[in-house]
Amino acid sequence: MLNATLAELSAALAAKRTSSLELTRACLERIERLDGTLNAFITVDEARALEDARRADARRAQGDAGRLTGIPLAHKDILCTRGLPTTCGSKMLAKFVSPYDAHVIERFDAAGAVLLGKCNMDEFAMGSSSETSHFGPVRNPWDARLVPGGSSGGSATAVAARMAPAATGTDTGGSIRQPAALTGVCGLKPTYGLVSRYGLVAFASSLDQAGPIGKSAEDLALMLEVMAGFDPRDSTSVDRPQQRYSQELDLDLKSLRIGLPKEYFGEGIEPGVRRAVEEAVRWFAAQGASTVELELPNARLGVPVYYVIAPAEASSNLSRFDGVRYGHRAAEFADLIDMYCRTRAEGFGTEVKQRILVGTYVLSHGYYDAYYLQAQKVRRLIARDFDLAFKKCDLILGPTAPSTAFAIGAKTEDPVQMYLNDIFTIPAPLAGLPALSIPCGFDERGLPVGLQLTGAHFSEARLLGAAHRYQQASDWHLRVPKETPL
Ligand code: GLN
Repeated sequence: MLNATLAELSAALAAKRTSSLELTRACLERIERLDGTLNAFITVDEARALEDARRADARRAQGDAGRLTGIPLAHKDILCTRGLPTTCGSKMLAKFVSPYDAHVIERFDAAGAVLLGKCNMDEFAMGSSSETSHFGPVRNPWDARLVPGGSSGGSATAVAARMAPAATGTDTGGSIRQPAALTGVCGLKPTYGLVSRYGLVAFASSLDQAGPIGKSAEDLALMLEVMAGFDPRDSTSVDRPQQRYSQELDLDLKSLRIGLPKEYFGEGIEPGVRRAVEEAVRWFAAQGASTVELELPNARLGVPVYYVIAPAEASSNLSRFDGVRYGHRAAEFADLIDMYCRTRAEGFGTEVKQRILVGTYVLSHGYYDAYYLQAQKVRRLIARDFDLAFKKCDLILGPTAPSTAFAIGAKTEDPVQMYLNDIFTIPAPLAGLPALSIPCGFDERGLPVGLQLTGAHFSEARLLGAAHRYQQASDWHLRVPKETPL
């Protein structure tokens, strides 16, 4: 049962072949069995999950059920949940309990989904390996010596190890797609503004976007239907008609023009990754899709631009953690300023402090024009490259990450190596575009490879449709890690 997709589980619930209570129990047992090793969860509230499940079963019995009613879900611990800790993987918020639910949590609650628990993550979503968490590193279910990617590594691991049928993540520079790729599951970063950021603890507000992580493109579509939609509490939320993504998956591949940017197939990509992605390109071509060679000349500047803009916004957003309003406060201090300093010194980890320093620097008088303003200009050029590209193609295909999963500790001493992991995932959020990652094979070590599809604004249905077609003809997305057999 735990290897079933969300779509299959939803059908099983509707046909009364299982109950939400049974399903939720199965997930809780699996978490109990595996999470001591994998560390994908920060909080699991069994009593609450079982109560949600009973309520969902009662709702189904009354004939008042949607597709997600009774489905257990795990949420990244950056989405505020009323009555449960929301830690952002940080000591600063280790004991913080939000007085309200994030928009996304409200939506899933209204749909009748079960809240299984909150997932481990890089501290304040800053990282590509889920190693910067105050609660210890998450381990990759394909090989526990390896990282699962990040920052939504807990969510991706929960799905990959079949501890939860699906999960939420957030993506600022790749944090949904890269962990999805490294753990062999699917993840979608929606168009900026499609999913409300209300109650999503801010890292870099012009980039942050919550999205689904699941086993199949169809599951992502079912999740997105619940998550997407206008919310007046987020000033960047876009008011547009609600879409039924799961009903729009039958994409005609014959009329599809797939863009292949030469920058996404250049040097620095592991041979196993390149092989799997090129194989997928051949499959799409064999189905009648046409391929178009493209250039995204400014994409190579994505990483440096991101590492100016994201820290700049983070330095401002994280100034609210001052020991007065939220979370941790130093126990001993001489005066108010000393209290701020000690609280922040104790509450934040090294990566977060580094980013606050960089962000404050690039925004400071005398450097603002040279760094921050310049980065904004190049960001615009990156977005323009995509605008031009989407005149010639319907979606852009490439690897999600240059490598498969790497060893825990391998890149922690070298931030540039760590940051380069996101070289292919960073351009889309800089341009506000939707992008997804799906499994497309394995490398010679047996580790999953991710395929990334990027589309024009609000083209989620097409991305999901292309991914769905591919999954109808392949089973990479249904493989279960050997180390955590069902
Ligand atoms: N790995 C990138 C970073 O460290 C992206 C993180 C994210 O998308 N939240 O900032």
